Amino acid sequence: MTNENTLPGNDTTELSGFAALGITGALLKATHNAGFTEPKPIQMQAIPPQLEGRDIFGIAQTGSGKTAAFALPILSKIIALGTKRRAKTTRALILAPTRELAVQIEDTIKILAKGAHVSTALVLGGVSRFSQVKKVAPGVDILIATPGRLTDLVREGDLILSDTKWLVLDEGDRMLDMGFINDVKRIAKATAPDRQTALFSATMPDEIAELAKGLLKNPVRVEVSPQSTAAAEIVQGVVFARTKQKRQVLSTMLADEAMKSVIIFSRTKHGADRVTKDLERDGFKAAVIHGNKSQNARQKALNDFRDGSVRILVATDIAARGIDVPGISHVVNFDLPDEAESYVHRIGRTGRNGMDGIAITLCDPSENSKLRQVERIIRTKLPIVADHLGSPDPQRNPAEKNERFEPANDRSDRNGRRDGRRPGGEKKPNHGFGKKRFGDKPAFAGERKPEGAKPFKANNKRRFGGKRPAARAA
Ligand code: AMP
Repeated sequence: MTNENTLPGNDTTELSGFAALGITGALLKATHNAGFTEPKPIQMQAIPPQLEGRDIFGIAQTGSGKTAAFALPILSKIIALGTKRRAKTTRALILAPTRELAVQIEDTIKILAKGAHVSTALVLGGVSRFSQVKKVAPGVDILIATPGRLTDLVREGDLILSDTKWLVLDEGDRMLDMGFINDVKRIAKATAPDRQTALFSATMPDEIAELAKGLLKNPVRVEVSPQSTAAAEIVQGVVFARTKQKRQVLSTMLADEAMKSVIIFSRTKHGADRVTKDLERDGFKAAVIHGNKSQNARQKALNDFRDGSVRILVATDIAARGIDVPGISHVVNFDLPDEAESYVHRIGRTGRNGMDGIAITLCDPSENSKLRQVERIIRTKLPIVADHLGSPDPQRNPAEKNERFEPANDRSDRNGRRDGRRPGGEKKPNHGFGKKRFGDKPAFAGERKPEGAKPFKANNKRRFGGKRPAARAA
Protein backbone atom coordinates (compact mmCIF):
# COMPACT_ATOMS: atom_id res chain seq x y z
CA MET A 1 0.00 0.00 0.00
CA THR A 2 1.32 3.45 -0.82
CA ASN A 3 0.98 6.17 1.70
CA GLU A 4 -0.30 9.35 0.11
CA ASN A 5 2.60 11.22 1.66
CA THR A 6 5.44 9.17 0.26
CA LEU A 7 7.21 10.12 -2.92
CA PRO A 8 5.81 8.56 -6.06
CA GLY A 9 7.18 5.09 -6.54
CA ASN A 10 8.26 4.83 -2.95
CA ASP A 11 6.63 1.95 -1.11
CA THR A 12 7.73 2.74 2.36
CA THR A 13 5.32 4.39 4.74
CA GLU A 14 8.14 6.36 6.27
CA LEU A 15 8.04 9.97 5.13
CA SER A 16 10.98 11.35 3.23
CA GLY A 17 11.93 14.37 1.16
CA PHE A 18 9.22 17.01 0.82
CA ALA A 19 6.59 14.66 2.29
CA ALA A 20 8.47 14.75 5.57
CA LEU A 21 8.09 18.53 5.53
CA GLY A 22 4.31 18.28 5.20
CA ILE A 23 3.83 18.55 1.42
CA THR A 24 1.17 16.15 0.18
CA GLY A 25 -0.93 14.95 -2.77
CA ALA A 26 -0.73 16.64 -6.18
CA LEU A 27 1.75 19.19 -4.89
CA LEU A 28 4.13 16.50 -3.75
CA LYS A 29 3.83 14.79 -7.11
CA ALA A 30 4.47 18.00 -9.06
CA THR A 31 7.42 18.86 -6.82
CA HIS A 32 8.89 15.45 -7.46
CA ASN A 33 8.22 15.71 -11.20
CA ALA A 34 10.03 19.06 -11.20
CA GLY A 35 13.11 17.15 -10.09
CA PHE A 36 12.92 18.43 -6.53
CA THR A 37 13.43 15.20 -4.66
CA GLU A 38 15.49 16.35 -1.71
CA PRO A 39 14.55 19.65 -0.07
CA LYS A 40 17.24 22.31 0.03
CA PRO A 41 18.28 23.68 3.45
CA ILE A 42 16.13 26.81 3.13
CA GLN A 43 13.15 24.60 2.25
CA MET A 44 13.76 22.32 5.23
CA GLN A 45 13.91 25.31 7.54
CA ALA A 46 11.10 27.41 6.10
CA ILE A 47 8.35 25.04 4.91
CA PRO A 48 7.22 23.41 8.19
CA PRO A 49 6.81 26.66 10.17
CA GLN A 50 4.91 28.29 7.30
CA LEU A 51 2.57 25.31 7.13
CA GLU A 52 1.93 25.95 10.83
CA GLY A 53 1.00 29.53 10.00
CA ARG A 54 4.21 31.25 11.14
CA ASP A 55 5.79 34.30 9.54
CA ILE A 56 9.27 33.86 8.08
CA PHE A 57 12.29 36.11 7.98
CA GLY A 58 14.68 34.46 5.53
CA ILE A 59 18.26 35.44 4.82
CA ALA A 60 18.84 33.78 1.48
CA GLN A 61 19.61 34.68 -2.08
CA THR A 62 18.25 33.48 -5.39
CA GLY A 63 19.74 30.08 -6.10
CA SER A 64 19.13 28.85 -2.57
CA GLY A 65 15.75 27.35 -3.49
CA LYS A 66 13.77 30.03 -1.67
CA THR A 67 11.01 30.24 -4.31
CA ALA A 68 9.78 26.73 -3.49
CA ALA A 69 10.42 27.47 0.19
CA PHE A 70 7.73 30.15 0.20
CA ALA A 71 5.55 28.89 -2.68
CA LEU A 72 4.91 25.33 -1.48
CA PRO A 73 3.28 26.31 1.84
CA ILE A 74 1.10 28.93 0.12
CA LEU A 75 0.08 26.44 -2.55
CA SER A 76 -0.68 23.81 0.10
CA LYS A 77 -3.00 26.14 1.96
CA ILE A 78 -4.73 27.48 -1.13
CA ILE A 79 -5.33 23.94 -2.41
CA ALA A 80 -6.67 22.86 1.00
CA LEU A 81 -9.09 25.80 1.16
CA GLY A 82 -10.43 25.26 -2.36
CA THR A 83 -11.57 27.97 -4.77
CA LYS A 84 -12.75 31.01 -2.88
CA ARG A 85 -11.93 34.35 -4.38
CA ARG A 86 -13.72 37.57 -5.10
CA ALA A 87 -13.43 39.69 -8.22
CA LYS A 88 -10.35 41.93 -8.42
CA THR A 89 -8.69 40.25 -5.46
CA THR A 90 -5.72 37.98 -4.96
CA ARG A 91 -5.38 35.46 -2.15
CA ALA A 92 -1.59 35.54 -2.14
CA LEU A 93 0.74 38.30 -3.25
CA ILE A 94 4.42 37.88 -4.04
CA LEU A 95 6.37 41.08 -4.51
CA ALA A 96 9.66 40.98 -6.43
CA PRO A 97 11.96 43.91 -7.22
CA THR A 98 12.55 43.09 -10.88
CA ARG A 99 10.37 41.94 -13.72
CA GLU A 100 12.71 39.08 -14.58
CA LEU A 101 12.57 37.71 -11.07
CA ALA A 102 8.76 37.98 -11.05
CA VAL A 103 8.54 36.02 -14.32
CA GLN A 104 10.89 33.40 -12.91
CA ILE A 105 8.83 33.05 -9.73
CA GLU A 106 5.64 32.57 -11.71
CA ASP A 107 7.34 29.91 -13.87
CA THR A 108 8.42 28.00 -10.78
CA ILE A 109 4.98 28.26 -9.17
CA LYS A 110 3.30 27.00 -12.34
CA ILE A 111 5.59 23.97 -12.34
CA LEU A 112 4.97 23.28 -8.66
CA ALA A 113 1.20 23.77 -9.01
CA LYS A 114 0.85 21.51 -12.04
CA GLY A 115 -2.24 19.39 -11.68
CA ALA A 116 -3.71 21.57 -8.96
CA HIS A 117 -6.33 24.19 -9.73
CA VAL A 118 -4.45 27.30 -8.71
CA SER A 119 -4.49 30.44 -10.81
CA THR A 120 -1.53 32.80 -11.12
CA ALA A 121 -1.08 36.23 -12.69
CA LEU A 122 1.78 38.65 -13.26
CA VAL A 123 1.57 42.39 -12.73
CA LEU A 124 4.68 44.09 -14.10
CA GLY A 125 5.70 47.43 -15.46
CA GLY A 126 6.84 47.78 -19.07
CA VAL A 127 4.13 45.54 -20.55
CA SER A 128 0.45 45.99 -21.33
CA ARG A 129 -1.57 47.13 -18.33
CA PHE A 130 -4.84 46.21 -20.02
CA SER A 131 -4.16 42.49 -20.16
CA GLN A 132 -3.08 42.50 -16.52
CA VAL A 133 -6.28 44.24 -15.41
CA LYS A 134 -8.27 41.70 -17.41
CA LYS A 135 -6.40 38.81 -15.83
CA VAL A 136 -7.00 39.96 -12.24
CA ALA A 137 -10.64 40.98 -12.87
CA PRO A 138 -12.19 37.61 -11.89
CA GLY A 139 -9.77 37.31 -8.94
CA VAL A 140 -6.62 35.17 -8.76
CA ASP A 141 -5.07 32.80 -6.26
CA ILE A 142 -1.47 33.98 -6.52
CA LEU A 143 -0.34 37.28 -7.93
CA ILE A 144 3.33 37.95 -8.58
CA ALA A 145 4.10 41.63 -8.99
CA THR A 146 6.68 44.38 -9.04
CA PRO A 147 5.74 47.21 -6.67
CA GLY A 148 5.35 50.05 -9.20
CA ARG A 149 2.67 48.56 -11.46
CA LEU A 150 0.93 46.94 -8.52
CA THR A 151 0.65 50.32 -6.80
CA ASP A 152 -0.80 51.68 -10.01
CA LEU A 153 -3.49 48.97 -10.21
CA VAL A 154 -4.44 49.40 -6.55
CA ARG A 155 -4.60 53.17 -6.90
CA GLU A 156 -6.90 52.89 -9.90
CA GLY A 157 -9.17 50.41 -8.12
CA ASP A 158 -8.37 47.55 -10.51
CA LEU A 159 -7.02 45.42 -7.71
CA ILE A 160 -8.18 45.06 -4.10
CA LEU A 161 -5.75 43.64 -1.55
CA SER A 162 -8.01 43.29 1.48
CA ASP A 163 -8.52 39.53 0.86
CA THR A 164 -4.78 38.88 0.55
CA LYS A 165 -3.89 36.44 3.33
CA TRP A 166 -0.37 35.57 2.21
CA LEU A 167 2.28 38.12 1.44
CA VAL A 168 5.84 37.39 0.31
CA LEU A 169 8.47 40.08 -0.10
CA ASP A 170 11.31 38.68 -2.14
CA GLU A 171 14.80 40.23 -2.28
CA GLY A 172 13.97 42.84 0.32
CA ASP A 173 17.40 44.44 0.16
CA ARG A 174 17.08 44.96 -3.56
CA MET A 175 13.64 46.54 -3.06
CA LEU A 176 15.39 48.93 -0.73
CA ASP A 177 18.17 49.68 -3.23
CA MET A 178 15.63 50.34 -5.94
CA GLY A 179 13.66 52.77 -3.83
CA PHE A 180 10.57 50.56 -3.45
CA ILE A 181 10.49 50.40 0.32
CA ASN A 182 7.66 52.88 0.88
CA ASP A 183 5.57 51.25 -1.85
CA VAL A 184 6.15 47.93 -0.16
CA LYS A 185 5.03 49.24 3.22
CA ARG A 186 1.92 50.78 1.72
CA ILE A 187 1.07 47.62 -0.20
CA ALA A 188 1.52 45.49 2.95
CA LYS A 189 -0.81 47.81 4.85
CA ALA A 190 -3.53 47.29 2.26
CA THR A 191 -3.48 43.47 2.68
CA ALA A 192 -5.50 41.51 5.27
CA PRO A 193 -4.33 42.34 8.81
CA ASP A 194 -4.36 38.64 9.76
CA ARG A 195 -2.19 37.70 6.79
CA GLN A 196 0.84 35.43 6.94
CA THR A 197 4.04 37.10 5.74
CA ALA A 198 7.45 35.95 4.55
CA LEU A 199 10.31 38.36 3.95
CA PHE A 200 13.45 37.21 2.14
CA SER A 201 16.60 39.23 1.76
CA ALA A 202 20.14 38.31 0.73
CA THR A 203 21.70 40.80 3.13
CA MET A 204 20.52 42.38 6.34
CA PRO A 205 20.95 46.13 6.33
CA ASP A 206 19.34 47.99 9.25
CA GLU A 207 16.42 49.13 7.09
CA ILE A 208 15.48 45.51 6.34
CA ALA A 209 15.59 44.61 10.02
CA GLU A 210 13.26 47.55 10.66
CA LEU A 211 10.95 46.53 7.82
CA ALA A 212 10.80 43.02 9.25
CA LYS A 213 9.88 44.40 12.67
CA GLY A 214 7.01 46.36 11.15
CA LEU A 215 5.63 43.62 8.91
CA LEU A 216 6.30 40.27 10.56
CA LYS A 217 4.62 38.79 13.61
CA ASN A 218 6.93 36.71 15.79
CA PRO A 219 8.77 35.39 12.71
CA VAL A 220 10.87 32.27 12.46
CA ARG A 221 14.28 33.33 11.25
CA VAL A 222 15.88 31.08 8.67
CA GLU A 223 19.26 31.59 7.08
CA VAL A 224 21.40 29.98 4.43
CA SER A 225 24.82 31.28 3.60
CA PRO A 226 25.40 32.18 -0.04
CA GLN A 227 29.08 32.77 0.55
CA SER A 228 29.99 29.32 1.75
CA THR A 229 28.11 27.80 -1.20
CA ALA A 230 29.84 30.14 -3.60
CA ALA A 231 33.29 29.44 -2.21
CA ALA A 232 32.80 25.70 -2.57
CA GLU A 233 31.77 25.71 -6.22
CA ILE A 234 33.16 28.81 -7.89
CA VAL A 235 36.79 29.34 -8.82
CA GLN A 236 37.52 33.05 -8.56
CA GLY A 237 40.36 35.18 -9.83
CA VAL A 238 41.37 38.73 -10.69
CA VAL A 239 43.00 40.09 -13.86
CA PHE A 240 44.74 43.42 -13.45
CA ALA A 241 44.25 45.57 -16.52
CA ARG A 242 43.80 49.24 -17.18
CA THR A 243 40.34 50.33 -18.23
CA LYS A 244 41.57 50.94 -21.78
CA GLN A 245 43.06 47.42 -21.91
CA LYS A 246 39.91 45.66 -20.71
CA ARG A 247 38.26 45.37 -24.11
CA GLN A 248 41.26 43.52 -25.53
CA VAL A 249 41.60 41.33 -22.45
CA LEU A 250 37.93 40.41 -22.61
CA SER A 251 37.98 39.55 -26.30
CA THR A 252 41.07 37.39 -25.84
CA MET A 253 39.39 35.56 -22.98
CA LEU A 254 36.17 35.00 -24.92
CA ALA A 255 38.05 33.47 -27.84
CA ASP A 256 38.50 30.45 -25.57
CA GLU A 257 35.71 28.03 -26.40
CA ALA A 258 35.68 26.73 -22.85
CA MET A 259 33.77 29.92 -22.06
CA LYS A 260 30.50 28.31 -23.11
CA SER A 261 27.99 30.49 -21.37
CA VAL A 262 29.24 33.79 -20.03
CA ILE A 263 27.58 36.62 -18.16
CA ILE A 264 29.55 39.88 -18.18
CA PHE A 265 28.70 42.43 -15.53
CA SER A 266 29.04 46.14 -16.04
CA ARG A 267 28.51 48.72 -13.30
CA THR A 268 26.49 51.06 -15.50
CA LYS A 269 23.89 50.81 -18.26
CA HIS A 270 26.04 52.90 -20.56
CA GLY A 271 29.03 50.67 -19.84
CA ALA A 272 26.95 47.56 -20.62
CA ASP A 273 25.96 49.01 -24.00
CA ARG A 274 29.56 49.93 -24.77
CA VAL A 275 30.90 46.50 -23.84
CA THR A 276 28.23 44.88 -26.03
CA LYS A 277 29.07 47.10 -29.00
CA ASP A 278 32.80 46.48 -28.60
CA LEU A 279 32.19 42.73 -28.42
CA GLU A 280 30.13 42.87 -31.59
CA ARG A 281 32.89 44.84 -33.32
CA ASP A 282 35.33 42.16 -32.18
CA GLY A 283 33.16 39.49 -33.80
CA PHE A 284 31.18 38.18 -30.81
CA LYS A 285 27.42 37.86 -30.64
CA ALA A 286 26.16 39.19 -27.33
CA ALA A 287 22.81 40.01 -25.74
CA VAL A 288 22.45 42.87 -23.29
CA ILE A 289 20.07 43.38 -20.40
CA HIS A 290 19.68 46.50 -18.25
CA GLY A 291 17.09 48.84 -16.82
CA ASN A 292 16.78 51.07 -19.91
CA LYS A 293 15.76 48.19 -22.15
CA SER A 294 12.08 47.47 -22.74
CA GLN A 295 10.61 44.48 -20.98
CA ASN A 296 10.33 42.64 -24.29
CA ALA A 297 13.97 43.31 -25.15
CA ARG A 298 15.04 42.16 -21.68
CA GLN A 299 13.01 38.98 -21.89
CA LYS A 300 14.30 38.25 -25.42
CA ALA A 301 17.91 38.75 -24.32
CA LEU A 302 17.34 36.41 -21.43
CA ASN A 303 15.57 33.80 -23.55
CA ASP A 304 18.33 33.89 -26.20
CA PHE A 305 20.92 33.42 -23.49
CA ARG A 306 18.94 30.72 -21.73
CA ASP A 307 18.34 28.66 -24.89
CA GLY A 308 21.96 29.04 -25.99
CA SER A 309 21.35 31.17 -29.12
CA VAL A 310 23.86 33.60 -27.66
CA ARG A 311 26.59 32.50 -25.30
CA ILE A 312 27.35 35.98 -23.95
CA LEU A 313 25.01 38.10 -21.88
CA VAL A 314 26.09 41.57 -20.78
CA ALA A 315 24.18 42.82 -17.75
CA THR A 316 24.02 45.42 -15.03
CA ASP A 317 23.58 44.41 -11.41
CA ILE A 318 19.94 45.27 -10.97
CA ALA A 319 18.82 43.74 -14.25
CA ALA A 320 20.66 40.53 -13.59
CA ARG A 321 19.82 40.13 -9.94
CA GLY A 322 17.69 37.09 -9.31
CA ILE A 323 18.19 35.66 -12.77
CA ASP A 324 18.48 31.92 -12.63
CA VAL A 325 19.94 30.53 -15.85
CA PRO A 326 21.31 27.04 -15.41
CA GLY A 327 24.74 26.19 -16.74
CA ILE A 328 26.47 29.58 -16.78
CA SER A 329 30.12 28.55 -17.02
CA HIS A 330 31.74 31.94 -16.42
CA VAL A 331 31.01 35.27 -14.80
CA VAL A 332 33.23 38.15 -15.88
CA ASN A 333 33.16 41.36 -13.89
CA PHE A 334 34.14 43.93 -16.48
CA ASP A 335 34.39 46.32 -13.59
CA LEU A 336 33.91 46.05 -9.86
CA PRO A 337 30.49 46.82 -8.41
CA ASP A 338 29.97 49.90 -6.25
CA GLU A 339 28.65 47.71 -3.48
CA ALA A 340 30.92 44.84 -2.49
CA GLU A 341 27.87 42.70 -1.64
CA SER A 342 26.88 42.79 -5.32
CA TYR A 343 30.02 40.81 -6.12
CA VAL A 344 28.58 37.82 -4.26
CA HIS A 345 25.35 38.08 -6.22
CA ARG A 346 27.19 38.44 -9.50
CA ILE A 347 29.39 35.40 -9.08
CA GLY A 348 26.41 33.43 -7.74
CA ARG A 349 25.05 33.34 -11.32
CA THR A 350 27.56 30.56 -11.99
CA GLY A 351 28.45 27.45 -9.99
CA ARG A 352 24.78 26.59 -9.52
CA ASN A 353 23.28 23.25 -8.64
CA GLY A 354 26.66 21.74 -7.86
CA MET A 355 28.18 22.59 -11.27
CA ASP A 356 31.59 24.21 -11.51
CA GLY A 357 31.80 27.88 -12.21
CA ILE A 358 34.54 30.41 -12.86
CA ALA A 359 34.37 34.08 -11.92
CA ILE A 360 36.96 36.51 -13.26
CA THR A 361 37.18 40.13 -12.24
CA LEU A 362 38.94 42.75 -14.36
CA CYS A 363 40.44 45.37 -12.08
CA ASP A 364 41.89 48.75 -13.03
CA PRO A 365 44.20 50.31 -10.39
CA SER A 366 41.50 52.88 -9.67
CA GLU A 367 39.27 50.00 -8.51
CA ASN A 368 41.73 48.61 -5.96
CA SER A 369 39.81 49.85 -2.95
CA LYS A 370 36.62 48.20 -4.26
CA LEU A 371 38.57 44.99 -4.75
CA ARG A 372 39.71 45.15 -1.14
CA GLN A 373 36.12 45.58 0.03
CA VAL A 374 35.11 42.51 -1.99
CA GLU A 375 37.96 40.49 -0.55
CA ARG A 376 36.87 41.42 2.95
CA ILE A 377 33.30 40.37 2.27
CA ILE A 378 34.25 37.01 0.77
CA ARG A 379 37.06 36.60 3.31
CA THR A 380 39.44 35.52 0.57
CA LYS A 381 42.22 37.23 -1.31
CA LEU A 382 41.45 36.69 -4.97
CA PRO A 383 44.25 34.89 -6.81
CA ILE A 384 45.82 36.91 -9.62
CA VAL A 385 45.12 35.20 -12.93
CA ALA A 386 47.01 37.76 -15.05
CA ASP A 387 48.57 41.15 -14.55
CA HIS A 388 48.67 43.47 -17.56
CA LEU A 389 49.86 46.47 -15.56
CA GLY A 390 53.52 45.62 -16.01
CA SER A 391 53.93 47.36 -19.36
CA PRO A 392 55.42 50.85 -19.01
CA ASP A 393 52.73 53.48 -19.01
CA PRO A 394 53.83 57.12 -18.86
CA GLN A 395 50.51 58.21 -17.40
CA ARG A 396 50.77 55.85 -14.51
CA ASN A 397 51.23 57.08 -11.00
CA PRO A 398 54.40 55.40 -9.66
CA ALA A 399 52.68 54.83 -6.29
CA GLU A 400 49.96 52.74 -7.97
CA LYS A 401 52.07 49.68 -8.45
CA ASN A 402 52.31 49.01 -4.75
CA GLU A 403 48.77 50.02 -4.00
CA ARG A 404 47.50 46.49 -4.06
CA PHE A 405 50.31 45.04 -2.03
CA GLU A 406 49.72 46.70 1.26
CA PRO A 407 51.02 45.82 4.69
CA ALA A 408 49.99 42.30 5.66
CA ASN A 409 47.87 43.40 8.62
CA ASP A 410 45.56 45.31 6.30
CA ARG A 411 45.46 42.67 3.60
CA SER A 412 44.75 39.93 6.11
CA ASP A 413 41.65 41.59 7.49
CA ARG A 414 39.22 38.76 8.20
CA ASN A 415 36.38 40.78 9.54
CA GLY A 416 34.15 40.27 6.53
CA ARG A 417 30.50 40.47 7.46
CA ARG A 418 27.39 39.14 5.91
CA ASP A 419 24.96 41.51 7.47
CA GLY A 420 25.06 44.09 4.72
CA ARG A 421 27.36 46.42 6.65
CA ARG A 422 30.97 46.99 5.89
CA PRO A 423 33.66 45.67 8.20
CA GLY A 424 35.21 47.69 10.96
CA GLY A 425 32.23 50.06 11.19
CA GLU A 426 33.59 51.74 8.10
CA LYS A 427 31.19 54.13 6.44
CA LYS A 428 29.97 53.21 3.01
CA PRO A 429 31.30 55.43 0.28
CA ASN A 430 29.12 58.30 -0.75
CA HIS A 431 29.22 58.32 -4.51
CA GLY A 432 27.39 61.59 -4.72
CA PHE A 433 24.39 60.00 -6.35
CA GLY A 434 20.93 60.16 -4.87
CA LYS A 435 18.51 57.28 -4.56
CA LYS A 436 16.60 56.86 -7.75
CA ARG A 437 13.66 59.14 -7.83
CA PHE A 438 10.97 59.19 -10.38
CA GLY A 439 8.81 62.08 -11.05
CA ASP A 440 5.40 62.30 -12.46
CA LYS A 441 1.94 61.52 -11.22
CA PRO A 442 2.10 60.53 -7.56
CA ALA A 443 1.17 56.90 -6.85
CA PHE A 444 -0.50 57.42 -3.49
CA ALA A 445 0.72 60.60 -1.85
CA GLY A 446 3.79 62.34 -3.25
CA GLU A 447 5.13 59.17 -4.67
CA ARG A 448 7.04 58.07 -7.70
CA LYS A 449 6.31 57.03 -11.21
CA PRO A 450 6.06 53.24 -11.77
CA GLU A 451 9.15 51.32 -12.77
CA GLY A 452 10.40 51.65 -16.27
CA ALA A 453 10.57 55.38 -15.68
CA LYS A 454 13.86 57.13 -16.26
CA PRO A 455 15.79 57.87 -13.09
CA PHE A 456 16.17 61.49 -12.12
CA LYS A 457 19.36 63.44 -12.48
CA ALA A 458 22.28 62.18 -10.47
CA ASN A 459 22.32 65.01 -7.97
CA ASN A 460 18.88 64.44 -6.51
CA LYS A 461 18.61 64.17 -2.78
CA ARG A 462 18.15 60.68 -1.42
CA ARG A 463 14.60 59.71 -0.66
CA PHE A 464 15.32 57.85 2.50
CA GLY A 465 17.58 58.93 5.27
CA GLY A 466 19.34 55.56 5.84
CA LYS A 467 22.99 54.72 5.53
CA ARG A 468 22.89 52.80 2.30
CA PRO A 469 24.59 54.32 -0.68
CA ALA A 470 22.61 54.99 -3.79
CA ALA A 471 21.84 52.33 -6.35
CA ARG A 472 22.98 54.05 -9.43
CA ALA A 473 24.23 51.31 -11.63
CA ALA A 474 21.43 49.60 -13.46
P1 AMP B 1 15.57 29.68 -6.43
O1 AMP B 1 16.53 30.11 -5.35
O2 AMP B 1 14.20 29.48 -5.89
O3 AMP B 1 15.63 30.58 -7.62
O4 AMP B 1 16.02 28.23 -6.93
C1 AMP B 1 17.24 28.02 -7.56
C2 AMP B 1 17.25 26.78 -8.42
O5 AMP B 1 17.18 25.61 -7.64
C3 AMP B 1 16.10 26.71 -9.40
O6 AMP B 1 16.63 26.32 -10.65
C4 AMP B 1 15.22 25.63 -8.86
O7 AMP B 1 14.55 24.96 -9.89
C5 AMP B 1 16.21 24.72 -8.15
N1 AMP B 1 15.66 24.02 -6.98
C6 AMP B 1 14.96 24.56 -5.96
N2 AMP B 1 14.68 23.64 -5.03
C7 AMP B 1 15.21 22.48 -5.46
C8 AMP B 1 15.27 21.13 -4.93
N3 AMP B 1 14.74 20.83 -3.76
N4 AMP B 1 15.91 20.20 -5.65
C9 AMP B 1 16.47 20.51 -6.84
N5 AMP B 1 16.46 21.74 -7.40
C10 AMP B 1 15.84 22.73 -6.71
